[in-house]
Amino acid sequence: MPRMPNFAIDGPAGSGKSTVARELARRLGLIYIDTGAMYRAVTYFALQAGVDLENEVELDALLNEIRFSLVRNLKSGTVVLWCSGVDVSPHLREKKVACNVSKVAAATSVRSYLVQYQQLFARTGGVVMEGRDIGTVVLPDAEYKFFLTASLGMRLERRGKELQAAGQSFTEEELRWELTYRDEMDRKREVGPLKKAPDAVAIDCTYLTVPQVIDKMLEDYGGG
Ligand code: C5P
Repeated sequence: MPRMPNFAIDGPAGSGKSTVARELARRLGLIYIDTGAMYRAVTYFALQAGVDLENEVELDALLNEIRFSLVRNLKSGTVVLWCSGVDVSPHLREKKVACNVSKVAAATSVRSYLVQYQQLFARTGGVVMEGRDIGTVVLPDAEYKFFLTASLGMRLERRGKELQAAGQSFTEEELRWELTYRDEMDRKREVGPLKKAPDAVAIDCTYLTVPQVIDKMLEDYGGG
């Protein structure tokens, strides 16, 4: 069988990456991988275990106990990320996870541990992987690379809807703080910062629908 291409999609929180990446994977029959969920899962476990999030030694010890796997849901056909044998997705949008994830994601040991997994998941091709450093660090050789952006107003609106759908209540102020704080931490960290890869195609999603963004992405993909 020919090797399927990998897609690397990066961008700030609320830029629409997750919805676009999930739908793109569905359309092309590829595996969707949300790397943010991996950082959130580590944060969730760290908070549960009472780990000091700024202490790399404690984080290292925790990482030794965390294993990730991709599990295909036979009913829906989609692939779900499991963490240490459980589907942790119901916890990943919790407020305390959202407010602490960028701190955990700045730890070098956490990044190198998760990047190894991400590279392994994409080794044989056929993934649509979204995050902050996919085009620059995780999959620099991905066949297709995109960097999605959107205005702050639109990003706040999208995040608000996403959290509402997940049953989380944030005030507008909390939402603004969470989004701008995470962006700043993600852009400024030393390892794997949020950054457009020089060869990634930038798409401003402020006024585009999901199908419009995907059409743009597929413009040079085997005739779309
Ligand atoms: O994509 P999502 O908003 O779920 O990501 C949560 C956080 O995980 C980001 O704010 C960032 O701190 C971290 N992250 C990262 N690198 C990635 C994906 C996510 O640092 N590739």
